[in-house]
Amino acid sequence: MTAPLTTLSPEEESALPPEVRRRRTFAIISHPDAGKTTLTEKLLLYGGAIQLAGDVRARGERRRATSDWMKIEQERGISVTASAMAFDYEGHMINLLDTPGHEDFSEDTYRTLTAVDSAVMVIDAAKGIEPQTLKLFEVCRLRDVPIITFVNKMDREARDPFEIIDEIQETLALDVTPASWPIGMGREFLGAYDILNKRVILMDRAGRHERQEGIQVSGLDDPKLADLIPPDKLATLKEQIEMAEGLLPPFDMTAYREGHLTPIYFGSALWSFGVKELLDGLVRFAPPPRPQPTATRAVNPGEDKVTGFVFKIQANMDPKHRDRVAFVRLASGHFRRGMKLLHVRAGKPIAVSSPMLFLAQDRATADEAWAGDIIGIPNHGTLRIGDTLTEGEQLQAVGIPSFAPEVMQVVRADDPLKAKHLQKALTQFAEEGAASVFKTEIGGTFVVGVVGMLQFDVLRERIRQEYDIPVRFEPAPYTAARWIDGEDPKHVEEFKARHKGNLAADHAGAPVFLARSSWDLTKVERDWPDIRLQKTRDHT
Ligand code: GDP
Repeated sequence: MTAPLTTLSPEEESALPPEVRRRRTFAIISHPDAGKTTLTEKLLLYGGAIQLAGDVRARGERRRATSDWMKIEQERGISVTASAMAFDYEGHMINLLDTPGHEDFSEDTYRTLTAVDSAVMVIDAAKGIEPQTLKLFEVCRLRDVPIITFVNKMDREARDPFEIIDEIQETLALDVTPASWPIGMGREFLGAYDILNKRVILMDRAGRHERQEGIQVSGLDDPKLADLIPPDKLATLKEQIEMAEGLLPPFDMTAYREGHLTPIYFGSALWSFGVKELLDGLVRFAPPPRPQPTATRAVNPGEDKVTGFVFKIQANMDPKHRDRVAFVRLASGHFRRGMKLLHVRAGKPIAVSSPMLFLAQDRATADEAWAGDIIGIPNHGTLRIGDTLTEGEQLQAVGIPSFAPEVMQVVRADDPLKAKHLQKALTQFAEEGAASVFKTEIGGTFVVGVVGMLQFDVLRERIRQEYDIPVRFEPAPYTAARWIDGEDPKHVEEFKARHKGNLAADHAGAPVFLARSSWDLTKVERDWPDIRLQKTRDHT
């Protein structure tokens, strides 16, 4: 399904154009409430992109409940700006891609992860690895995405650092190396020792939004430490770091870049603590744009010609015009406004006259962009998830998945005469990646699949508002959908002919098996060993 990313060698990396080499494109993965929004806000604060923390906070708060979420959807302008944020930090261009926080909308999150070169995993110090963290981590692992870990909320009662590290090693099968080490925790949290840079950083409880500067020391034996840290805490710190050094592997760039080892930072996003170290680590360790796999060859970010792929579609930024914005991750080249690019799937050129660049402060018009950047291309439905744009070469990006839905319902228009119209609406949502849509072979019923129940409400509302069709959702007799595949086309046809009652087509016409029970699936596996029932399908 997802092709692992290849890593550039240090020589290849230094041969990249400077504009590409200075880019870092990443996403934050976390379980809801771990502190992603707070951390995002602080990253922007350090990047000078916002003056006073608070902007992102307000957005995050509003995004929480269902009804609020819909309101946000109507105010698309805001959520789009937050989908990708670009800011400068110490000579680097940071592209932070936002992943929707709600568990019900994780499919978008998965696809966003196909557009990043690395990730920051935020863990709540008291809760450790939570279900959503694990799920997202697994997606990162499929592509060997390098991960930096940030243990957040150290200012509250937290687990012992060794316990947290053990959990990461065991649950995620990932080596951990400490980049910083906490001094105390909870009310006694003083700060951290920056192991990699030999600095002590003390938390300033007076100013939540202050940027803390570290105090340089020569090492843990520096007598200066006695003035900074109370004796008992200093003794514990030395003891723990000594133990950590004995037990844990040292930082190894190759192991990190290949996704086997994660440097871990301890901090508190709320108190802006440890955020600067995290950003410094990101700039220093995280890879610049990585080669993008395609069906025929890997695209090197340093290539002159522009290549990009669509990983997300956001529709109805302006409900009056049915326009959509395609989020394109540039995989190579130097993009300039007004360029004509080949839309490979359609075989037609498109003129990208008013692309958007997602600067953190505001949505701005892009005049130029480089490999690693995200641009938004407004269009009327021509661009779809997984589409590739090039300067002429026939390339097809791979590894941008569609997921088998976890809940399915039948959708019907209240007015049966509107069935055709409804099909159009459903196709749009399927192309946008907002839902899976299957038309059954027998009866031509529309079955809509989603990852979380909440999406049905959103869809019903959107079909009514955008297409003026009142619809109702009814329970569907299916428990799973699987794309049908097999080596031998004759066998596949035979399989389809024998299972007409379970057969449907997705929005692009690909055959799908709708199972009525898990027993259905087991039976197929047993009786048709050469038929593959796939849980995911590449958007190709
Ligand atoms: P998200 O759901 O991952 O985006 O999490 P938020 O950033 O919205 O944070 C969830 C809650 O935890 C909010 O009430 C935050 O104020 C709080 N929070 C976030 N970071 C910290 C931290 O470092 N310390 C403490 N004490 N609370 C935090």
